[in-house]
Amino acid sequence: MRAAVYYHSDFAEKGYITLRHRVKPGFDGLQDLIKAGHLEVLEPVINAESRELLANSHTADLIKRVKAAGMHEVALLSASGVIQAAEKLHNGSLDFAFCFVGTAGHHAGKNYCWGFCYYNDVAMAVKKLKALSTNRIMIIDVDPHSGDGTRDFVARDANIIHINFFEDEDYPYEELNYNNYGILLNNCDDKKFLTALDEMLVRDWDFEFLIMIFGHDSHSLDYGDFNLTFNAYQELARKIRVFARGRPVLWVLSGGSNPQVAATAIPTIIKESLGL
Ligand SMILES: [Zn+2]
Repeated sequence: MRAAVYYHSDFAEKGYITLRHRVKPGFDGLQDLIKAGHLEVLEPVINAESRELLANSHTADLIKRVKAAGMHEVALLSASGVIQAAEKLHNGSLDFAFCFVGTAGHHAGKNYCWGFCYYNDVAMAVKKLKALSTNRIMIIDVDPHSGDGTRDFVARDANIIHINFFEDEDYPYEELNYNNYGILLNNCDDKKFLTALDEMLVRDWDFEFLIMIFGHDSHSLDYGDFNLTFNAYQELARKIRVFARGRPVLWVLSGGSNPQVAATAIPTIIKESLGL
């Protein structure tokens, strides 16, 4: 299996303050896998393509506001990694990728952003994949906060399956009867989460490419409202590996601020995804 992690030191140095302290501990936890040759390290770059995807995804007004907030470069660098990973997975030069980020994306809609998110990395990668004729894309968002921004982009595209597991509030578009799903999980522990996940994964989904939005703010020691343990992450990664049945899987980091949680959560997800 050809696997890579997308990482840039700017994520730890210039990322959003709540998110950046977990980046390096999460990456440092991967050194054994990297040294053993299981995982390649790729550095994202901002290029003409990522700039164009940004301009075609978000409004000029939102981009102006992100620039004014001083988050443009690191947010675009974060999204560039996700776009570049998606392309390599599409063309078969990678089978698995995990993208570190300096800002998150799933609360960034076309003309708004909030909650440590600035540019919607996954929405931009979806645009890239569709340009490459990968149209049937499944997005499973297990960050405990609902991915309203991602839904703002994909809700009306019947080819995109968008599943949110959350414990905050639901967002519209469900009534459109496309492929939008919201799974509300109150007082969520490992059992409740894994049972809900199983209930979704057993359905007969038609997709070519899977994107996982992973926030370790779902851990009991992090700031989100789920109360998961590392065991749930291991089971999550195992279930997703089996579920994907060889189709490309792109994991994108989302919420989470606790460095100790990141140092175990991220290696756990990657190791299990690689079947190690
Ligand atoms: Zn979150």
